[in-house]
Amino acid sequence: MKIKRISVYHVDLPLEHPYWLSGGRLKFEVLDATLVKIDTDAGLSGWGEGTPWGHTYVPAHGPGIRAGIKTMAPFVLGLDPRRVLDVERAMDLALPGHLYAKSPIDMACWDIAGQAANLPIADLMGGGSRTPRAIASSVGAKTVEETRAVIDRYRQRGYIAHSVKIGGDVERDIARIRDVEEIRRPGEIVLYDVNRGWTRQQALRVMHATEDLQVMFEQPCETLDDIAAICGKHAAPVSVDESLVTLQDATRITRDGLAEVFGIKLNRVGGLTKAARMRDVALAHGIDMFVMATGGSVLADCEALHLAATIPDANCRAVWACQDMITVDIAGGRGPRNRDGHLHLPEGPGVGVHPNEDALGDPVAVY
Ligand code: MG
Repeated sequence: MKIKRISVYHVDLPLEHPYWLSGGRLKFEVLDATLVKIDTDAGLSGWGEGTPWGHTYVPAHGPGIRAGIKTMAPFVLGLDPRRVLDVERAMDLALPGHLYAKSPIDMACWDIAGQAANLPIADLMGGGSRTPRAIASSVGAKTVEETRAVIDRYRQRGYIAHSVKIGGDVERDIARIRDVEEIRRPGEIVLYDVNRGWTRQQALRVMHATEDLQVMFEQPCETLDDIAAICGKHAAPVSVDESLVTLQDATRITRDGLAEVFGIKLNRVGGLTKAARMRDVALAHGIDMFVMATGGSVLADCEALHLAATIPDANCRAVWACQDMITVDIAGGRGPRNRDGHLHLPEGPGVGVHPNEDALGDPVAVY
């Protein structure tokens, strides 16, 4: 089987609410999504998606995905998409780095491989758990009262996992953490996501002030060096997501004991093929995982769900579904959707959901 055509679509996905990132980063209102369709000479077609969480969040650029695909396409055309490692090596050779540009091609190849084997991707990867995965909310509110109201709204939709965004003002962060812990229900999963918003000193101030609560902080500081520098000075469990980009990051984090949890963002790390290695490193060291699309439609959520299904239930904390935050649905309600705060693995072969092609407009490039 050979890849005979790569069609690239650009879709704007407006956010229901404009999003401000911590640390004075710019606001954004629309996610720039790239959808990729790969056609084969065997009549099978696979779909992939790459949607960064805006271009102000981490070094990932929507138009950069499309430029990267243009560079990589000549090296990928003609390969067998079921041999995902061959495709991965061809992309790494054609364009070192730029992992976020590779994930949609990787995803489309896994989709084709799944269809060819008549298996969902998770099963093709070695076995997919059917235990529904809790979806983590995004609680971006600022005040104590707003935070309570947003968590309540999510609870009404069945959510039991919450990612509370902090990392602004230290005193306000401490007050919000204390308040959320007070209203936290048994069995609820709460993660305090700093999004790199603290300096080392600020991180230690909040961690010390909330030490009695034993809450988990995600990405407390900008870099792994910062997280390493404060590591021995606090007792709080830490999750790392934005600084988990390469397999080398994963091995450093585990070797040096920098985090208790990995937050794996599929688009950020370059797709399922590379993410599966991080999963194995995590499992080898007793590290639990959150799995997320970096952003995007139900397609990207579905990709994350497949990886989450290959993680033992006890080690998979939650997934994140961006689809609930955007106002455009490219798949007309199909695919895994929030059911009582959980996503259920689709049983169809491959990724399990494809977009409505006519709703995407003309491709912006065909190779
Ligand atoms: Mg995070």
